[in-house]
Amino acid sequence: MGSADLTALEARVRREVEMTAHPRTEWMVPRLYRGKPALDALIVGAGQSGLCIAFALMRDRVRNILAVDRAPEGREGIWAGFARMPTLRSPKDQTGPDLGIPSLTFEAWYDAACGAGRFAALNMIPTGAWHDYLQWYRRVLGLPVRNGVSATAIAPGELDDGGRCLLVTLSTGEVLAARKLVLATGQDGTGEWWMPDFVRALPADRRAHTCEAIDFERLRGRAVAVLGAGASAMDNAAVALEHGAAEVHLFCRRAEPSVVQRYRWLSG
Ligand SMILES: Cc1cc2nc3c(=O)[nH]c(=O)nc-3n(C[C@H](O)[C@H](O)[C@H](O)COP(=O)(O)OP(=O)(O)OC[C@H]3O[C@@H](n4cnc5c(N)ncnc54)[C@H](O)[C@@H]3O)c2cc1C
Repeated sequence: MGSADLTALEARVRREVEMTAHPRTEWMVPRLYRGKPALDALIVGAGQSGLCIAFALMRDRVRNILAVDRAPEGREGIWAGFARMPTLRSPKDQTGPDLGIPSLTFEAWYDAACGAGRFAALNMIPTGAWHDYLQWYRRVLGLPVRNGVSATAIAPGELDDGGRCLLVTLSTGEVLAARKLVLATGQDGTGEWWMPDFVRALPADRRAHTCEAIDFERLRGRAVAVLGAGASAMDNAAVALEHGAAEVHLFCRRAEPSVVQRYRWLSG
């Protein structure tokens, strides 16, 4: 188990990707913006969706692409951050980023990294292992990602041949011309992380949003109030108790907390 198995798996990945590489013909015609090739696609966000979309585009030979993520390498997505539960909630055999290539599945990676048969013994996927799998996925496929860069503005633009493009401003000040733009920004991209005004008004060391990095050690011996009683609320309450919080109280507006995961039937 370990690095020899991973090396063998990576050779298998390369072989299987090669064996299923149709179409092989380059078909994208470079289009220029101010004399330089515009990106065929720019992907904002290199969490699991952004990585998977990058791989899918490259398999279809849309290869002049780039993904940018504002997080440093290894901190993309939620899995090494505010996803505080020890295991994923989705079932372990729900595949996805592998795009149907067996050697790219979580199962193949986990058995190579942790030992043959270890996946079969798992009940749910450990959150940290899923994160490590995504890091490996990016590396083994050589996906083009730039870290530590935010997309800050989008404007319409014109290619040298008169066609349309989008001009995306990055936090570095650069402006990238892209023929297509994919916003794979996850929950970050859906709006503002919000907290009620009366909570926001508290001193910063007395309150936190679950999306933030929280120093749970500081809660040792304290009474903690959690607003909400959904999945993230439960996760954070549990972590606070594990770190020695004296009491944790969850507050929810409805008469009873919801105990039914309404999307469960979707995930089989
Ligand atoms: C506590 C919790 C538990 C969850 N458990 C599960 C589960 O078990 N199974 C499941 O399938 N889903 C689960 N989810 C849902 C989960 O968020 C998604 O499945 C997964 O993270 C979606 O991946 P994504 O790539 O779409 O978004 P994300 O993982 O959120 O990645 C988005 C990326 O975009 C980057 N980004 C955002 N804005 C910009 C910008 N302007 N410029 C550059 N980069 C930017 C961010 O840095 C981030 O890396 C859970 C969510 C939470 C909060």
